[in-house]
Amino acid sequence: MKTEYVERPDLKTEEGIQGIRRAGEIIRRGGLVVFPTETVFGLGGNALDADAAQKIYAAKGRPSDNPLIIHIADPSEAALYTETSDLFVRLAKRFMPGPLTVVLPAKPVIPKTVTAGLPTVAVRCPSHPVAHALIAAAGVPIAAPSANLSGSPSPTTFAHVKEDLDGRVDMILGGECSIGVESTIVRIDGENELTLLRPGGITPEELGEFARVTLSAAVLDKLKEGERVQSPGMKYKHYAPKTPLYLLRGDQTARMRYLDAQTGKFAVLAYTEELAALRFHPASPVLFDLGSVTDPSEQLHRLFFLLREADKAGCERIYAALPGTTGLSLALYNRMIRAAAYQIIDTN
Ligand code: AMP
Ligand code: MG
Repeated sequence: MKTEYVERPDLKTEEGIQGIRRAGEIIRRGGLVVFPTETVFGLGGNALDADAAQKIYAAKGRPSDNPLIIHIADPSEAALYTETSDLFVRLAKRFMPGPLTVVLPAKPVIPKTVTAGLPTVAVRCPSHPVAHALIAAAGVPIAAPSANLSGSPSPTTFAHVKEDLDGRVDMILGGECSIGVESTIVRIDGENELTLLRPGGITPEELGEFARVTLSAAVLDKLKEGERVQSPGMKYKHYAPKTPLYLLRGDQTARMRYLDAQTGKFAVLAYTEELAALRFHPASPVLFDLGSVTDPSEQLHRLFFLLREADKAGCERIYAALPGTTGLSLALYNRMIRAAAYQIIDTN
């Protein structure tokens, strides 16, 4: 199919508004539109249309047992599609619109194709102005997973979306993704109980002000053989570059000593503070600036972009430091251990 583009939709111009209006029509009549959100790009279709959901799985090459998140224009609309609760309302007041997805019991209006047969559905209200305008223009909730081919890192730029989905969707809207990794997903288990299924831009510490937060086992570790998954997406190899990625555990001195001993063609996703020393490495590694060691939000913002760019550098392997697991770093840790297929090297 021929994909239509609006690379920089500007809601202040008539042209931009017309583009969003056309995109809304495409969604309403069962087509697919890629759109920017504050997390990553989404691959959207009408969440009330089982055929549209089927097309999303096909366009991504995604297994259809991995459910989709439905995107709404206002948190109050969640009650149309799910059984909400007081805790949902309190979370919505504090974090929506924004990068928080909440899993709630689904109402029958949501097709089983969207929920992959589960009795629950994941709901999010994005803050990105283009995403918001698109949902409003469509007049229906939009089911949207990340706009990558299944298995590769989620796209955070127009160029990366095109690499994966040109010719597979009706339209692509461009824009900026300020956060750079997918939303935080929580399941409400009671009025004072949340399970964190996937970390993201909203931290467990922030959520802890509203309820007791339990981390799903798959957040920090590989699922064990035969273990039940709470969030189907966690069982798939994810976010992975084609070049093997290795994560280095250890302090800066130990990691640098390890890298000093490396030969051959390799790339490093390095903290800004460590770039200068690596520039004089005899093997001339391909260097990418992951952001300051003290700024996990910058690191999150760059991670998926750099994983895709590092893959194009023609290296045998990629190295990066193993992040911590508190605050925003938890989301980095969760994505990076999957991108590395759990290959962690102790350098101490
Ligand atoms: P993506 O939109 O690509 O970030 O993927 C959405 C992720 O949300 C899936 O991989 C699931 O793990 C998770 N998810 C969606 N719906 C549910 C649900 N009803 N229960 C648990 N996890 C869900
Ligand atoms: Mg995804």
